Amino acid sequence: MNDKMTSRPHLLIIYTGGTIGMMRDYDSNALRPFDFEGIYKNIPELNHLNCTLSSVSFDRPIDSSNMQPDDWMNIAELIRENYDSADGFVVLHGSDTMAYTASALSFMLQDLGKPVIFTGSQLPVGDLRTDAKENMITSIEIASMRKDAEPLVQEVCIYFEYKLLRANRTTKISAEEFKAFFSPNYPLLGESGVHLKINEKNLHRYPVKSLKVFPVKAQNILLLKLFPGITRQVWEHQLSTPGVKAIVLETYGAGNASTEAWFVDALKEVIDRGIPVVNITQCISGSVEMGKYETSRTLEKIGVISGGDITTEAAVTKLMFLLTRGDGPEQIARDFPKPICGEISE
Ligand code: ASP
Repeated sequence: MNDKMTSRPHLLIIYTGGTIGMMRDYDSNALRPFDFEGIYKNIPELNHLNCTLSSVSFDRPIDSSNMQPDDWMNIAELIRENYDSADGFVVLHGSDTMAYTASALSFMLQDLGKPVIFTGSQLPVGDLRTDAKENMITSIEIASMRKDAEPLVQEVCIYFEYKLLRANRTTKISAEEFKAFFSPNYPLLGESGVHLKINEKNLHRYPVKSLKVFPVKAQNILLLKLFPGITRQVWEHQLSTPGVKAIVLETYGAGNASTEAWFVDALKEVIDRGIPVVNITQCISGSVEMGKYETSRTLEKIGVISGGDITTEAAVTKLMFLLTRGDGPEQIARDFPKPICGEISE
């Protein structure tokens, strides 16, 4: 751990990898992670912020495509270990799977009373037009904000390209634009312009603040996206995958799917075997409303669980969380539609 300092409040920067901390290897043109100290060299402004910073880096910083639940646990453990000494946390992470990690952390860190702000960048910190600088500096400023001697933000967020978003409402929408993230079904938590504005009415607050860290382990979850023309053979083969513990089904529109008997029967057989199936929409925004159309009433009748307006990232990580906790199919059917930390509208 490396201490860099000035005055209060005190933040911990957790560097996991991703483009934000990469340098171009000019021989191969590939991006490779570099030592975290490089960030201070490239963003000297970090030494002039009105807060004190410590940093801790993954031993081997990784591209976020290699992030696994064990890495989520490492981040959660670092937050737990430093919870009393830090007023807030900024997690530097690759943008590709940031919405999964940040969603998972929102379930793992319960009764949180401090900010955990994930950020990254589309261009490496050393590039001339990099977005890393703004993303990192503003994330630190947000994590330092106070109201009535308490951290203003007390939840897991993603800050990217001038927008503060609830982590478990966020999805990556662009591999090209600096505006890479979007919160389709929940309003902005804050916005950075000439002024840094936080929309306090949109913030999540746990009534009790005494951090509890819950584990999340990899689980046999099947994520299935429907498409017109999916064949019976493929459908039945996927649903008979051995060892599956839960299924996330990306359906059409407001939660609709084929009413063909072979399609429904195979799904019913899976549910009858005690495998929870959660229905989410493959639309970028909006909600599943089971029963609105005949094509979703059938799903409702056989016991498919409504995922409401949850994102794919939050649906998958919430199921991992519930399965790791040991919830059975009835508990999952009952609890999945209820928000734990603002991830789904009631
Ligand atoms: N491949 C990188 C990662 O997710 C992309 C990024 O950081 O934006 O680690």
